[in-house]
Amino acid sequence: MKHLTDIEIAQEKELIHIKEIAAKLGIEEDTIEMFGKYKAKLPLTLIDEDKIKKNNLILVTAITPTPAGEGKTTVSIGLTEGLNKIGKQATVVLREPSLGPVFGIKGGAAGGGYSQVVPMEDINLHFTGDFNAVEKANNLLSALIDNNLQSNCCNLNLDPRTILWKRVIDMNDRALRSIVIGLGGTANGIPREDGFNITPASEVMAILCMATDFEDLKKRLGDIFIGFTFDKKPIFARDLKAENAMAILLKYAIKPNLVQTLEENPAIIHGGPFANIAQGTNTIIATKMGLSLSNYVITEAGFGADLGAEKFLNIKCVAAGLSPKAVVLVATIRALRHHGGAKKDEFNTPNLAFVKAGFCNLEKHIENIRKFNIEPVVAINTFSNDSYKEINYIIEKCAELGVNAVVSDGWAKGGEGTKELAKAVVEVVESNKSHFKPIYNWKTPVKEKIETIAKEIYGAIEVDFDKKAKLNLARIDRLGFNDFAICMAKTQKSFSDNESLVGRPENFVVTVREIEIAAGAKFIIPILGQMMRMPGLPGVPASENMTIDNNGVISGLS
Ligand code: ADP
Ligand code: MG
Repeated sequence: MKHLTDIEIAQEKELIHIKEIAAKLGIEEDTIEMFGKYKAKLPLTLIDEDKIKKNNLILVTAITPTPAGEGKTTVSIGLTEGLNKIGKQATVVLREPSLGPVFGIKGGAAGGGYSQVVPMEDINLHFTGDFNAVEKANNLLSALIDNNLQSNCCNLNLDPRTILWKRVIDMNDRALRSIVIGLGGTANGIPREDGFNITPASEVMAILCMATDFEDLKKRLGDIFIGFTFDKKPIFARDLKAENAMAILLKYAIKPNLVQTLEENPAIIHGGPFANIAQGTNTIIATKMGLSLSNYVITEAGFGADLGAEKFLNIKCVAAGLSPKAVVLVATIRALRHHGGAKKDEFNTPNLAFVKAGFCNLEKHIENIRKFNIEPVVAINTFSNDSYKEINYIIEKCAELGVNAVVSDGWAKGGEGTKELAKAVVEVVESNKSHFKPIYNWKTPVKEKIETIAKEIYGAIEVDFDKKAKLNLARIDRLGFNDFAICMAKTQKSFSDNESLVGRPENFVVTVREIEIAAGAKFIIPILGQMMRMPGLPGVPASENMTIDNNGVISGLS
């Protein structure tokens, strides 16, 4: 049998009209705002706080990943199909893909194999324009800042050297990381250093994902911290009267998008902050929308559980008052081989010794989920080169820890391959074992909150604060931002801040290099190691293999 690519599988599927998907959620055709036949926006009036409390939220997270990704999106979609197959009403709620990874190394983010959301090309490319709206709102603030520097009438006396706000574009474009703007004489602005971040790293994206409605969105946009005046007074976006105009650009972007899975189940896709430098989960509005319309909501947090799940639980769930009933921890045999010492060319060859040595990584993630008082279920996202011996070893070791580990084969078989996982998840939900509690209180001092995450979740013995980080802590205190949540920026490749330490590193110290502020999102962002807010493209970008034919059919997208 010819092996079909993700896009070929997606294009083979005959989609049903989006009004039929809406009908499955009990929504009338007139209520949705259609973007063609297969995409629609959902109005915020559908959010229902009573239903949110009654329905079940399931988080999908993963062990420490290899660069290829371990299949969280694929498992989230597959599990949704499986739950529907066993008679549960389930919706998957995901992030929107960024063009950076689409044209770079990783590819799209619409799932894989027979667990995908469709129309796959649209979802991966521009979709309903939300990222473009975020970019425009972000860059409007940039334009207002530079206009104010130039202004005679209303100059805020902003010191250009202190401006932290950057422009954004949704592209991997390293040449824009550090730039000089305003060159060319007095008519062309005040020259200053600036730079571009990628759109998923924009604070506007973080804010959109934390906002609960337009009022909250405007308040948060106004609270964006920009920099200081020459006499050291802080300046916020509201000082430039920017928040209302930024919010109107987000008029449609604030509404969640409805699409379908390959098995015609509902999928809500909305917002897309990265998980290593931002909070890494879809919008609070979309999660609440899912829970208002569906008995089971399956959602994903980016990268490994030390980043995505930690932030999902301590930031999003606390802010939104959400309480997940179960956490699905995705593990792949190839990643466990990697954590056990396998080299890149050995990832895909069965080797029980490597898997045994790498199990410690999964074990630490299991312990971490339990620190939140939530019961994990391990999903072994199976690949064709996994051996029974390796799989059985994981199942037995998890059983020793009292955790149910189940093979998930949604990539090859869709919902048929995830029924067992779906049953395991329902069992945990119905057992009522999970009673979510965060691992820190937002009100404790910033330094203490950072130490709690580093020690409890990463397993560090100590946290070092560089000189710059200490100055940043003092600034946070002066500005009165002590009770914000912590949004860690750390490599996804290790529990530690050193990406070469795989498995379960011990006796390590993490170093906080500097600490950024996202005042509108209400985050403090400690930067561990060198974190990139504007990625670059690889030597051979994925874009080289893509094309569109005369009928408008796209190929080569992965
Ligand atoms: P994550 O969400 O964890 O980053 P994805 O679900 O996006 O990971 O999967 C990453 C890539 O791996 C996708 O291209 C997907 O098609 C592929 N993939 C996922 N699961 C499997 C599997 N079981 N077998 C083969 N390929 C898979
Ligand atoms: Mg994903």
